[in-house]
Amino acid sequence: MRATCWMGKGSIQVQQVPDPRILDDGDAIVRITATAICGSDLHLYNGFVPTMKSGDVLGHEFMGEVMEVGREVKNLKVGDRVVVPFPIACGACAMCRKSLFSLCENSNPNAWMAEKLWGYSPAGLFGYSHMLGGFPGGQAEYARVPFADVGPLRIPAGLPDEKVLFLSDILPTGYMGAEMCNIDKGDVIAVWGAGPVGLFAMKSAQLLGAERVIAIDRFPYRLQRAREISGAETLNYQEVDLHEALRELTGGRGPDACIDAVGLEAHMPGPLYAYDRVKQAVGLETDRTFALRQAILACRSGGTVSVIGVYGGFIDKFPMGAVVNRSLTIRSGQCHVQRYMKPLLERIEKGEIDPSVVISHRLRLDEAPHGYEMFLHKQDDCVKVVLRP
Ligand SMILES: [Zn+2]
Ligand SMILES: [Zn+2]
Repeated sequence: MRATCWMGKGSIQVQQVPDPRILDDGDAIVRITATAICGSDLHLYNGFVPTMKSGDVLGHEFMGEVMEVGREVKNLKVGDRVVVPFPIACGACAMCRKSLFSLCENSNPNAWMAEKLWGYSPAGLFGYSHMLGGFPGGQAEYARVPFADVGPLRIPAGLPDEKVLFLSDILPTGYMGAEMCNIDKGDVIAVWGAGPVGLFAMKSAQLLGAERVIAIDRFPYRLQRAREISGAETLNYQEVDLHEALRELTGGRGPDACIDAVGLEAHMPGPLYAYDRVKQAVGLETDRTFALRQAILACRSGGTVSVIGVYGGFIDKFPMGAVVNRSLTIRSGQCHVQRYMKPLLERIEKGEIDPSVVISHRLRLDEAPHGYEMFLHKQDDCVKVVLRP
């Protein structure tokens, strides 16, 4: 089959690789009909995630048709149309029973690698380094899906791929980011990053009762999307003093909750950005954290900072004093996607949300390298790239 392969930092190629096959009685093989490039794939592309090997198949947002199932699979049959969540979860361990699916204790065969960095291992993920299981991803013609009875969600006929594909990651991730804010009626929620996850966090905040949503980014076309999709007020941090602007928009108090949908490659003007870049470049700091620092300092006292941008390792100049002295709550996590797929599918069916609005480019699988370049450099107003194998 053809698959999108990571060949080294900054190098992606679509190559011929062996077809996946059933390795475990609980597996399914899915023929992929739609897949997407995620912002977190750019961290792999840019070489920020350790334990990638040349030839690794990328992609953790995909859906398709079940072609084959292992002997023990009961909930799926050949021909079913499914969306596959990005964390791989067994459904039976202590974490899965608490619905903390991205923390599954049984799905990462390379748990020891993650334990070295993080103390304990989270779940295995599709197409996201050997430290997280080394599972081939879904930017390909076919994928092997372990624990097929637990993860994949069957999609009713009549819903096009583009409306449901993002149940695999970015819609639930954005939704969880908003849910972690414990939104009360009347709340003002500020979101750093108007990429696809940020846009869904804004829309979700609105669905969960926020009175106002403020979008923060530096690309006018992304801020425009934020206004269109969720009626957000927008701030371009290259044009305003962000802290002051947020204070002004919130009666001098700060947003009730701040969502960091940027993560480890944050870009910000000023000396701290240069400090982070230099330290990151020489390996003294793994993550650039400008968005997170700003979110913490901007949040109202007693408010919540919800972190859904991806961080990998260690951060520097973390304003812990603000967290403690102003009673801030920090919440975070890789999304427990399986928990949100069904309720969000219902919202899609009811027309409350149409995830396809974030799609800016539709490409063939063979054009994946071009898709990565375009998404990375924000060319042609790129917001979200969908690939068709
Ligand atoms: Zn993703
Ligand atoms: Zn589990």
